[in-house]
Amino acid sequence: MLPTRLSLADKIPDAVFCMALIVQKYGGTSVGNTDRIKNVAKRVAEYRSRGDQVVVVVSAMSGVTDGLIKLAKDIAPLPSEREMDMLLATGEQQTIALTAIALHTLGVPAISMTGAQAGIVTDGVHTKAKIHNISPRQVHDYLSEGKVVIVAGFQGETPEGQITTLGRGGSDLTAIALAAALKADLCQIYTDVDGVYTTDPRIVPNAKKLQEISYDEMLELASLGAKVMQSRSVEFAKKFGVVFEVRSSLNDNPGTIVKEETKSMEGVVVRGVAFDKNQAKVTIVGVPDKPGVAAKIFKALGDATVNVDMIIQNISHGTSSPATDISFTVDKPDLLKAQNVIDGLKSEVGIKQIITSEKIGKVSIVGVGMKSHTGVAGKLFETLANEGINIDMISTSEIKISVVIDLAMGEQAVKAVHAAFIG
Ligand code: ADP
Ligand code: ASP
Ligand code: MG
Repeated sequence: MLPTRLSLADKIPDAVFCMALIVQKYGGTSVGNTDRIKNVAKRVAEYRSRGDQVVVVVSAMSGVTDGLIKLAKDIAPLPSEREMDMLLATGEQQTIALTAIALHTLGVPAISMTGAQAGIVTDGVHTKAKIHNISPRQVHDYLSEGKVVIVAGFQGETPEGQITTLGRGGSDLTAIALAAALKADLCQIYTDVDGVYTTDPRIVPNAKKLQEISYDEMLELASLGAKVMQSRSVEFAKKFGVVFEVRSSLNDNPGTIVKEETKSMEGVVVRGVAFDKNQAKVTIVGVPDKPGVAAKIFKALGDATVNVDMIIQNISHGTSSPATDISFTVDKPDLLKAQNVIDGLKSEVGIKQIITSEKIGKVSIVGVGMKSHTGVAGKLFETLANEGINIDMISTSEIKISVVIDLAMGEQAVKAVHAAFIG
């Protein structure tokens, strides 16, 4: 049975019984083998048979993107980012063609399109390009010819014709951006879990599925490691008001609706717990403690498109020429690049030593209710202390608290924090 039109009715009440334009995104596991691709085709065909126009966005089959990255890294530890985009874009191209073929066998007219063919224009920042605009004229044309349009997720093209990719997990962004550009009635993100849970259900089996979550909470959870949605896609959805549903491609259970915050959402202090094991820490030892040094370091990292997250500067030591230590975290794949940037500044800035660690994990609690509740940080730190877990770094915002801890303690921390705040 197909899910109800509840989320559609939420958005445009009088559209419940009209033909709808639906954007559906299927992630790597959902298209992980040919049987799964055939299942996706069946679901798409069912929607189409009731008169809906369907645009399907697909990821590479699970493991394909990682496999391609490994091939490149076997040849060079820091491969050219332009060539990486050329290579990684092939993963999604396999899936679009296979999905179109599967639809053809069901008698459904379908056509596959690369990101560029679908009109997705990006800037030139290879491996993490931003979408500038989308001109979906050809998508519209195919839809009006009665075709299902299958678009390769995760990729776009610069105005000069260079192939780009949108950052890991970027097919979510393709789907949300296309839903906005096409003014779709419904945007569904199909994945291998039933929706957004209070934490990763693979770590905490009794995590609870959320019926709905605000953009801001989803954005924080996603940027703090909850891989279920790519954070940039949620940012985009918030900016353009795209209401979307995260649901399973393996069953018909209702999923989680992600939308603007409502007053009732503030009643919950902690909506979710996130765990990011994809972070690395860099400590720069013996940095001269004088104006302009931090600016020089972080500007150089920014110029090299390294995303820096938490930053901690220690109290300076020495009096004649005071020095300090600065620690910061970056995404693991950016560690080598960050290290090279700092190495390049070593003598110019007068840095004594660079220490790096990939054995860190970041655990965060997120909830819009934190704005109006006190004592949340104390309870978090106490919970970790009771588990004997040492906190290395802390950062907070209005609706989240994050701590960096030893990676090996990460899952234990998530379980304890989830039990303390959610149950
Ligand atoms: P896809 O390939 O469909 O894009 P991902 O692997 O990127 O899927 O994301 C889905 C995974 O996200 C789930 O299998 C789950 O382990 C993980 N996950 C992490 N945090 C959460 C959460 N809070 N709710 C649901 N899933 C989560
Ligand atoms: N295939 C890409 C990745 O693995 C994009 C995606 O799956 O959304 O990151
Ligand atoms: Mg994903």
